[in-house]
Amino acid sequence: MIVVMKPGTSQEQIEYICRQIENMGFLAHPIHGVERTVIGAVGDERGREQLLGLALVDGVEAVIPIMKPYKLASRELQKQPTVVKVGNLEVGPLQFVVMAGPCSVESEEQILQAAQAVRAAGANILRGGAFKPRTSPYSFQGLEKKGLELLAKTREKTGLPVVTEVLGAEDIKLVSEYTDILQIGARNMQNFPLLKGVGKTKKPVLLKRGMMCTVKELLMSAEYILSHGNSNVILCERGIRTFEDQTRNTLDLSAVPLLKELTHLPVIVDPTHGTGVRSLIPPMARAAVASGCDGLMIEVHPHPELALSDGAQSLNPSEFAELMNRLQPYLQVEKRKIVRSEMVNK
Ligand code: PEP
Ligand code: MN
Repeated sequence: MIVVMKPGTSQEQIEYICRQIENMGFLAHPIHGVERTVIGAVGDERGREQLLGLALVDGVEAVIPIMKPYKLASRELQKQPTVVKVGNLEVGPLQFVVMAGPCSVESEEQILQAAQAVRAAGANILRGGAFKPRTSPYSFQGLEKKGLELLAKTREKTGLPVVTEVLGAEDIKLVSEYTDILQIGARNMQNFPLLKGVGKTKKPVLLKRGMMCTVKELLMSAEYILSHGNSNVILCERGIRTFEDQTRNTLDLSAVPLLKELTHLPVIVDPTHGTGVRSLIPPMARAAVASGCDGLMIEVHPHPELALSDGAQSLNPSEFAELMNRLQPYLQVEKRKIVRSEMVNK
């Protein structure tokens, strides 16, 4: 339910309504708009009739149901887009973020070279996996804690904030100590203990769409994070599995404008995992900008032929620089700016 307050209601009245909502066993989630405040009341649907009585309380204009199963994530509750802050960057409707770097952190030299190259080309966030979700248990699993340390060291040297994957709920504390954004991978989109765990932190979360999951399921997973208290969620379209076998996944770009209609959360696109084919990444990156997304995630390796994971889909530094150059006119049309990142103070 949404409790819509009258324009000009006092803070005391708003707090009073929030307390009433919580006394009824719901979570109260106030959103302060320019003209008025609305309060999301979310919880077990069965008790929602109780909330209707709040319509009679002073200062309340209306109590209306949220029709979508995802409540806090829905546009019905919050009209204005959410802006997720990462250091001096604001992931949302005005800026454009480019998260680039290797699939995996492999060595100090490799991650530093990758970071310097992507920064020089205009990326403003460094990606790199330390804990890797690999299909085969015999494939490289990542440098784990050592990889996190190398990411933090590279951040110190380049000023680029870091996004890296957290594979299990037991690693949230460790990964949070090093990273600026916690990445939830496609294979973990419905790992509910993990979603609840990152929901209890205040770290920005990059939630990737599961390869077999619908847009609605992606939003329900985001709802897990939001309902546990963390509103800093960025969604990522990274391709879904279809009958097509010439690409690794089918990049569902229609999900971007669809998500923009359904949710206030920022949306980025990963054309690297979305296609798995190096030559398709630059055109799909341009198409992603035109689709209205808020950023990109792209794998870049100083020497893709030597990469320990996903080399075949990684761009080398000059291919990435070319991609970034050709992106500029599209960014201008969309009135988006890539802001340079400054050192993130943790
Ligand atoms: C990754 O970003 O390296 C990754 C494993 O992506 P996904 O979870 O989308 O497969
Ligand atoms: Mn990868």
